[in-house]
Amino acid sequence: MTMKMKIDNNNIFIRNYQIKIREVEDPASHDASGQYTPEDNVLGIFAAHELTIYIKKGLPEALLKDTLLHEILHAIWFISGCTSVDGSSYSEELVISIITSDIIEFIKNNNELLEYYIDRY
Ligand SMILES: [Zn+2]
Repeated sequence: MTMKMKIDNNNIFIRNYQIKIREVEDPASHDASGQYTPEDNVLGIFAAHELTIYIKKGLPEALLKDTLLHEILHAIWFISGCTSVDGSSYSEELVISIITSDIIEFIKNNNELLEYYIDRY
């Protein structure tokens, strides 16, 4: 079964925060830290100051799923108050990159368990 999800202009909820999802040409231009340039070809950004996830337009489906989950985890990281011990974003980036791949695999391989959770709540 293949389901196409409408990403642009969608909203998700993390705790009681509403996070907007927008597809844009250059997600990096929405990054408040200004650490990225267009040459970095940033695929997604969680802009905490706007509670918005910006995703690059036109990504292939598998890359879109990975990028969207990656940015959702950044949003969860922010909202739950996690901070890097050394004050850099290195640990956040590392942890989220590893966990994103594992969660994608987990979702693919555990449909029944996911249905159980969806039913349960
Ligand atoms: Zn990241």
